[in-house]
Amino acid sequence: MTQSAQSLSWYGEFNDPALEAEFKNGRLRELLRLARTVFWCAAGINLLFLFSDWRFYGQPHFPVAIGARGVIVGVSLLGWLLLPRNSSLRRVQNVCAAWCAPVIAAAAALLLPQTESARLILVILPMAFYLTLPMPTRWVMAAGVAVSAATLAAHLSGAENPALSLGIGLSVLTLNVVLAIVLVRINRLQRLEWAANRDLTENQAMLQSLLRAVPAPLVILACDASRVIHANDAAHEFFGESILADPAELLERLVGECPPNQGQIDQCETRFDLGDGGIRSVIVVSTLAALRGEHVLLAILIDITLRKEMEAHLKLLASTDPLTGLLNRGRFFELAGEEVSRSRRYERPLAVVMLDIDLFKNINDTYGHTAGDAALKSFADLCRSLIRAPDIIGRIGGEEFALLLPETNGVSARALADRLRAAVAAMRIDGLPAVMTVSAGISELAPDETAIDAALSRADGALYEAKRGGRNRVVLRG
Ligand code: GH3
Ligand code: MG
Ligand code: MG
Repeated sequence: MTQSAQSLSWYGEFNDPALEAEFKNGRLRELLRLARTVFWCAAGINLLFLFSDWRFYGQPHFPVAIGARGVIVGVSLLGWLLLPRNSSLRRVQNVCAAWCAPVIAAAAALLLPQTESARLILVILPMAFYLTLPMPTRWVMAAGVAVSAATLAAHLSGAENPALSLGIGLSVLTLNVVLAIVLVRINRLQRLEWAANRDLTENQAMLQSLLRAVPAPLVILACDASRVIHANDAAHEFFGESILADPAELLERLVGECPPNQGQIDQCETRFDLGDGGIRSVIVVSTLAALRGEHVLLAILIDITLRKEMEAHLKLLASTDPLTGLLNRGRFFELAGEEVSRSRRYERPLAVVMLDIDLFKNINDTYGHTAGDAALKSFADLCRSLIRAPDIIGRIGGEEFALLLPETNGVSARALADRLRAAVAAMRIDGLPAVMTVSAGISELAPDETAIDAALSRADGALYEAKRGGRNRVVLRG
């Protein structure tokens, strides 16, 4: 990581040997090619130099030059042979190091004459050593210094002008310093770049794994709807391939109702039509971003369908009576309040019917509580089947029920209640040989009433009257 990139040695290599080995092994093919090229070039160039050495023919230096060229060509060809294409890093470095020793000695011999070209080579050789040899930096520096020292010593051994010799010596020294600085600089830059790329690759890989691991559907879409840039596994599962194949449609469905804002993370609850009949309740968490210069939409969907269903179920449980499935007392009074308001607003009649099963205690006592429960359920089902859709029925007590009849006056309500009473009396319940009857009290909401209570209380009074009158009857109180 960045930390490792910073821990470079003074000569520009990683302090961590493992990291340095990783760096070099990553470029092994390149290093090997370089070493083989150096050997080829060294052999080739020195063969060419044989022609130039011909000028020494007849002089004592001639056999020295020919011998030295032969050594360089020979060890270079040998080095090339010792470095097949599958060579390891260690082998490349060792062969290069082994090549250096005879080449340095031969080069020193070649530079014995006081010629212009010898002086030029005196400068070129350190450059070649510093900049081309694929060895550890300290070895390269040692080889560079060695070739400079050996060739300089050999060349100056026959020199007659001490001032010139000093100048040449200082030039070679300067050259070595400059080359060492260049080498360290190259090392540092190469490694810093490599470490930065490595960090980037690691981060990208980590991001990819993270995106893939997110259990929620996640998509990255080009804002011009040209393509889906990324869809994780959960997205493939959720959307299906046909939706993902249509980026324009997907974009429209994701942001149609919830347009995101630049630089902001937006959340929006919506319903997503999967097109196969499935509609899911989702929270779309989205943001706009720039990815490699492209405007993209990043969206995560949180599927809350189950939560919504559970909420609806809980709401139902909180508003219904578990035994009969009718509205419970609380919900009945809530809806009654709304119906009273509507009735007052539109000046429409509203009737209320109180129902109480007759002598229900006897049913329980004679046939048991379970049979009593079954009777209550049958009664509720019967009521449901007889009332209209806008009518509201609730279980407001043990065997007491209340009916709210919008758009209905007292007389019509009495007719309905009487039909209901007759139907109950005619009803036969499994496991209950006895006949069950019900009494009803009816009242109508008065024009000046803004709550249901008074009408209910009147209906209750009418119910009491029906009971006193012998039960299984309906009483309307105006
Ligand atoms: P009345 O004609 O005067 O209304 O007589 P009643 O016996 O119906 O009236 P009472 O109030 O004396 O008795 C009501 C009975 O309803 C008593 C109670 O045990 C029974 N009850 C209330 N809730 C339930 C229930 O959920 N299941 C069953 N099985 N019985 C219930
Ligand atoms: Mg009762
Ligand atoms: Mg009763």
